Amino acid sequence: IPPDSDSPTIFDKIINKEIPSTVVYEDDKVLAFRDINPQAPVHILIIPKVRDGLTGISKAEERHFDILGRLLYTAKLVAKQEGLAEGYRVVINDGPQGCQSVYHIHVHVIGGRQLNWPPG
Ligand code: 5GP
Repeated sequence: IPPDSDSPTIFDKIINKEIPSTVVYEDDKVLAFRDINPQAPVHILIIPKVRDGLTGISKAEERHFDILGRLLYTAKLVAKQEGLAEGYRVVINDGPQGCQSVYHIHVHVIGGRQLNWPPG
């Protein structure tokens, strides 16, 4: 069951550097780091540094327009930085049926091998 929007997640500890992560991009609004359980040679997560109720994409409101744009733009930056010129996938899992496991919105950037569609 998804937690309420006030429950902290493991990503707060990553933002606060209380647990280590391999950061590949950071600015004042977003943090991008390598997934601990990569599903491809490149698997990066991009998160807002302030969650602001955005536990998942299903909770998006008009006030989130700027951060949502930044998350997607950062996906492009990171993919380019990682050399994914042949293509890649950008994913946001939402809710139990979407296999979301961390309720702090995050964009997956996955690449470095041939991906399949549909994902199943
Ligand atoms: P979701 O299933 O919610 O879309 O994705 C959550 C992702 O966070 C998973 O791919 C999982 O491997 C990753 N993850 C969970 N805990 C940690 C952690 O402590 N460090 C890092 N780097 N990734 C994590």
